[in-house]
Amino acid sequence: MPLMRSWIESANSADTEFPLNNLPYGVFSVDDGDLRCGVAIGDRIVDATGLEANGALRADPEADVLDAPYWNDFMELGPGSWAKFRSALTAMLSDDAIEDLRDVITTYSVQMVEATLHMPFRVSEYTDFYAGRHHATNVGTMFRGPENALPPNWLHIPIGYNGRASSVFVSGTEIRRPWGQQKSPDHDMPAFMPSRRFDIELEVGAIVGQSSFGPVSVDFAEDMIFGYVLLNDWSARDIQAWEYQPLGPFQAKATATTLSPWIVSKAALEPFRVPTPNREHDLLPYLEETKPGLYDISLDVTIQPEGGMESTLARTNYKEMYYSSAQQLAHHTTAGSPMNVGDLLGSGTISGPKKTERGSLLELSWGGKEPIEIEGGTRNFIEDGDTLTLKGAAVGDGYKIGFGDCVGKVVPALDAADLPYKTER
Ligand code: CA
Repeated sequence: MPLMRSWIESANSADTEFPLNNLPYGVFSVDDGDLRCGVAIGDRIVDATGLEANGALRADPEADVLDAPYWNDFMELGPGSWAKFRSALTAMLSDDAIEDLRDVITTYSVQMVEATLHMPFRVSEYTDFYAGRHHATNVGTMFRGPENALPPNWLHIPIGYNGRASSVFVSGTEIRRPWGQQKSPDHDMPAFMPSRRFDIELEVGAIVGQSSFGPVSVDFAEDMIFGYVLLNDWSARDIQAWEYQPLGPFQAKATATTLSPWIVSKAALEPFRVPTPNREHDLLPYLEETKPGLYDISLDVTIQPEGGMESTLARTNYKEMYYSSAQQLAHHTTAGSPMNVGDLLGSGTISGPKKTERGSLLELSWGGKEPIEIEGGTRNFIEDGDTLTLKGAAVGDGYKIGFGDCVGKVVPALDAADLPYKTER
């Protein structure tokens, strides 16, 4: 599909992340005003809450679903309403839109540079998976040796754990280095100290836009997904190494998860569908797909020390996943768990086969044994003052579909004196 031209000129540039082909969903405010639902187009944000109140564009004729600081009520309307809304907004922004429609949009839009972006949806619950084969192989090799790298279940089942919705934040939120219990560097007894192996995980998050009760098929799960965000699953490796057996990660993943400010709809990503990889073992029937379940989305992660230059840490692609979000979602419902509008599913860290394609510092520095070169220094793990940024783009013919940067700056751990307990025995 070629670039769809808009009368908003900035949306026609090959560099913008927000051409008419995209139309991602976000929440914004201007000058400490109310939080409003918005749609990005070029260098502007269309005030969807305002258009709804004015009557110019209504997703639901009966209810004001956008009179809220999140898109959840809109999602609840379902795929038919998502498509109608997208098509009506596309007509208003297209370069053959009539003058009256252009005037309405001009009234109900703001410059993106003047806006503050907020969480685009209310996270109901958060589940994180472990579905990138190269990542799982790399981490397994470090933790258990190459012969036991992939656990025997891995090629058959999407592995996941239930995370916390309360620690999911929008891009730009500062991330405080966590304290936690970990194995002491000097002996086998545990110590309580700030994490010294604080890390990122480069992931894509799928947002569930429809609820379900009882098990669903992969096809049905596919229809339940509303869209995708970039997701950084901040991880404290030292806390993780001490706590993860036998029940998996807990406090290592409880500091923060950062999301990109814009939700890219499934419709915008449709031209970029690619199949999941060839498999050594057929999956059980309940996990079989009937259409390609991944997307060709190139992904970058960069690091910028305080006052320093930005360096690229890795480049990879969402198509490296072993399981699609629809497969993960279908698996999630097998034992009877209802799913809700606003549920967030992390893909799992996305690493490619090459060393420069690894989506975490744990892999890039091979557990801290091979420091990586960045502008002005080296890194094993994140240092205080570092800003980590995820970027993603599906690249089409003369345009690209982006998510907005997913940014987090790591600030020092709390002073021991500010904790509600002694940190040493
Ligand atoms: Ca993760």
